[in-house]
Amino acid sequence: MDAPLDYDVVVIGGGAAGTAAALALSRYTRLRVALVERRLFEDFRAGESVSASLLSLLDYLGVPRAALAGAQLPTYSHAAAWGSGALVMRETIFSSQGNTLQLDRRRYDTILLDQAARAGVALYRPAEVVQLAHGEAWRLQLLVGGKALDLSARYLVDCSGKSALVVKKRGRPVHTEDGLVALYGYYDLGAPTFLPQQTLVETTEHGWYYVTPLPGDKVAVAFITDTDILKRLALNEADNWRAQGLATPHVGRIMARLPAPAAMRHYAIHSRVASLPDSENWTAAGDAAVCFDPISSMGIGQAVSAGIHAARVAEATLLGDTSMARQYNRSLFDNFETYLHMRQGYYAAEQRWPDAPFWQRRSKRQTR
Ligand SMILES: Cc1cc2nc3c(=O)[nH]c(=O)nc-3n(C[C@H](O)[C@H](O)[C@H](O)COP(=O)(O)OP(=O)(O)OC[C@H]3O[C@@H](n4cnc5c(N)ncnc54)[C@H](O)[C@@H]3O)c2cc1C
Repeated sequence: MDAPLDYDVVVIGGGAAGTAAALALSRYTRLRVALVERRLFEDFRAGESVSASLLSLLDYLGVPRAALAGAQLPTYSHAAAWGSGALVMRETIFSSQGNTLQLDRRRYDTILLDQAARAGVALYRPAEVVQLAHGEAWRLQLLVGGKALDLSARYLVDCSGKSALVVKKRGRPVHTEDGLVALYGYYDLGAPTFLPQQTLVETTEHGWYYVTPLPGDKVAVAFITDTDILKRLALNEADNWRAQGLATPHVGRIMARLPAPAAMRHYAIHSRVASLPDSENWTAAGDAAVCFDPISSMGIGQAVSAGIHAARVAEATLLGDTSMARQYNRSLFDNFETYLHMRQGYYAAEQRWPDAPFWQRRSKRQTR
């Protein structure tokens, strides 16, 4: 049997968090870093709205702004019918954080992986981590093109998204707040979009919609609700999806002009936070550590920023300093607490359906 390929740090997952962690490690430390990503991103990848302040994090990671051309589309305003049927407009151009960007996540994640490889990260892709053994050094078994490949690592960064591979493997407690799900319709217009460069949010009795233009003449329409409500409304069925959309005043006007969706996808988006260890040889970042309701638009920015912090935690822990890990773990919980207050404020602003289960469940502060 071949000896395992040896690294100081292996990052599992090549999404927003994993690419940030790997780039930060390669740019700012001398550690030998590998990143393992199981997908070639053939399918749509959800999660697109992010504040333009993302760009300064990418500057820090040494990603040239020109590299992102074609993967992002700025939106200049948000329109929301939330709390009343009237649309309220907010221009982002005058906000302190600047415009919002809509990312083509397949392209964005691919570009960041390419940047990581150029920065010296050993990239295993497509390669799936199928076995993990914890010890002073981690042993990982990858499946690469149907063949097993062994790696060893002094430290792991779990950026495996909702799979939370290492969090689960180590049996860490995870606090889950809700049963939120998103049903996504992706539309390919095949011609420049008729939509303004603006996002739209609109509530209904059963949840809320958001509509956003995407780079490359695409549009995403998402309906956010709870698992049981989604099943009851059978929105996975194309006719029901279209009928509910058309019956929603502002979204309906857009839906009426959209072709049939190129794809429909269903995602679990439960808000949750994992309790990470202060002094073991691993940490987690992004959705593997903490997940947010998309109303907050916090997922991508937090994943990138946490990836950068996780890189610092990895380096400090390998040098025998666990104070950085403690600080990082504390900040994840503090952030989550702040987020819950903010989320509560958003949902409390909608009072039109006090007896509807979706809104009733969100009318009280859920405490941890
Ligand atoms: C429907 C929906 C809408 C959203 N909307 C927004 C939004 O508008 N704004 C926002 O900021 N956020 C949004 N988010 C959240 C945002 O997408 C996530 O927070 C963000 O993508 C998290 O990045 P990540 O790197 O942690 O995880 P991911 O991007 O999921 O990356 C994890 C990677 O790990 C890989 N992986 C998993 N297991 C293995 C394994 N065993 N071996 C190798 N690789 C593995 C996966 O293939 C994946 O590429 C949304 C999410 C969803 C689902």
